[in-house]
Amino acid sequence: MAQIEANGMTLVAEPAEADALIINTCGFIDAAKEESVNSIVEAVEMKKRGDIRQLFVAGCLSERYRADLEKELPEVDRFFGVTDFRAIIETLGGSYKYELLGERHLSSPSHSAYLKISEGCDRPCSFCAIPIMRGQHVSTPIEKLVHEATFLREKGTKELILIAQDTTYYGLDLYGERRLPRLLGELADIDGIEWIRLMYAYPSRFPLEALDVMRERDNICRYIDIPLQHADDALLKSMRRGITRRATEELLTEIRHRLPGAAIRTTFIVGYPGETEESFRTLHDFVAEQQFDRLGVFLYSREENTTADILGDPIPHEVKEQRRDALMELQSGISLTKNKARIGDDMRVLCDRIEGDFIVARSEFDAPEVDNEVLVPLGDFNGSPPLGDFVDVAITDAEEYDLMASKRR
Ligand code: SF4
Repeated sequence: MAQIEANGMTLVAEPAEADALIINTCGFIDAAKEESVNSIVEAVEMKKRGDIRQLFVAGCLSERYRADLEKELPEVDRFFGVTDFRAIIETLGGSYKYELLGERHLSSPSHSAYLKISEGCDRPCSFCAIPIMRGQHVSTPIEKLVHEATFLREKGTKELILIAQDTTYYGLDLYGERRLPRLLGELADIDGIEWIRLMYAYPSRFPLEALDVMRERDNICRYIDIPLQHADDALLKSMRRGITRRATEELLTEIRHRLPGAAIRTTFIVGYPGETEESFRTLHDFVAEQQFDRLGVFLYSREENTTADILGDPIPHEVKEQRRDALMELQSGISLTKNKARIGDDMRVLCDRIEGDFIVARSEFDAPEVDNEVLVPLGDFNGSPPLGDFVDVAITDAEEYDLMASKRR
C-alpha cells in the first residue's frame, strides 16, 4: 500500500470508488477459501456492471490455486502470488521503489500495528497447507525490524503485535540460532513503544529465555499466544507437532513460573482424523485442567497436498461442531470466573474505538479482534474520548468475554 501511494495513486476505502481492485486472499482452510472466492465473485459482478475497470487477485489462495482460478474466473485481469509486490505495482503502471523498504501504509488504527517478523514455515504439521503457500521460513533481520518498528512508532504506533507463521523459530534460518529473545529486547528498547505482544508461538523447542525478557521488560505484554492444536498424544503424533501432552504441560508450567500473571491464549483443532470420543475427552479434560485465559477452536479442514490428506475426513461436520461447541462452552465458564475475579482491579487499557455509548479498550492481556474487550462509558471522558491512548480504569463488572470499567479519577 505504501508503494501504491508512493507511485502517486490514491488508496480508497470503498471498492466502488476504485478504478482497480486488488483482492488479497486467504486459502488455508475451507472457510477462508470460501470467503475469498465469494469476495472475488462479488468483485467480478462489480466489474461486469462497470463499477471498476480492473480486477486483480493476490495472496495465498491465488498462490495455491492460480491455474484453476485463471480457468474459472477469466474476468479477473491477473492473479498474483504471495510475494509478487513488484509485479502488482508494475501492472498498475508504477515502478517498485526499493528505498521504501520498511515503510507501510497502516490499515489498522495507527496506535496498534502488526509487525511480521518472518515469513513461511519449516514445521511439518500434517494438517497445514501454509508452508505450501508461504514457502520455507525466512526471518527478517533484526535491524530491518527495528527500522520498521521505529518507522511505525513515528507514525504513532504504541502497540506492536509480533506475528509470523511461527514466532519461536525466529532467527534459526538467518543466524543459526533462535533469536526471539534478542529481538524482543531490541524492540523493547525503542522509545515510545509501550506494548509488545507475542502471537503464534509454536510450543516445541520453545526458546525459554524469551520468557525472561518478557518478564524483565515493562513494555512487553504479559501475554502469550501458543497454539497447541490438541492434547492427546496419538493425535499430536499424527499431527506431527513434535511435542507430547506431558511436554506441553511442562512448558505451560514453565511459562506460568517465569511469567507470573501472564494471559495464555491457545487454539485447538477438533475433528482431526482419528479423534475418537476418548481422545476428544482427553482434550476437554486438558482444557478444564489448564484453565487457559483465552481459547479458540478450529474445525479440521482436509487440505490437499498436506500429509494428513491421505487420512481422509472421516469425522462428520456436525460432530466437529458439537466438539467445538462443547469446548467453547467449557471455556466460557472458565473465562467468566476469571473475569469476575478481576472486578475491583485497576487496569491500564488502550482505547481502540467507540461503539455506541462506550469506548472499547483492551488490557495487556488481550489482542485485538480475538480476545476480550474492556468497555468504558464515553461519559467518563467529558466529550474528549482518548482514542489511541492509554487510560487507567477500575473494573466494575464482568461478562464471559468482556469487562466493564470506569475511568479512574
Ligand atoms: S507451525 Fe503453524 S504454519 Fe507452520 S506448519 Fe504448523 S500449523 Fe502450519
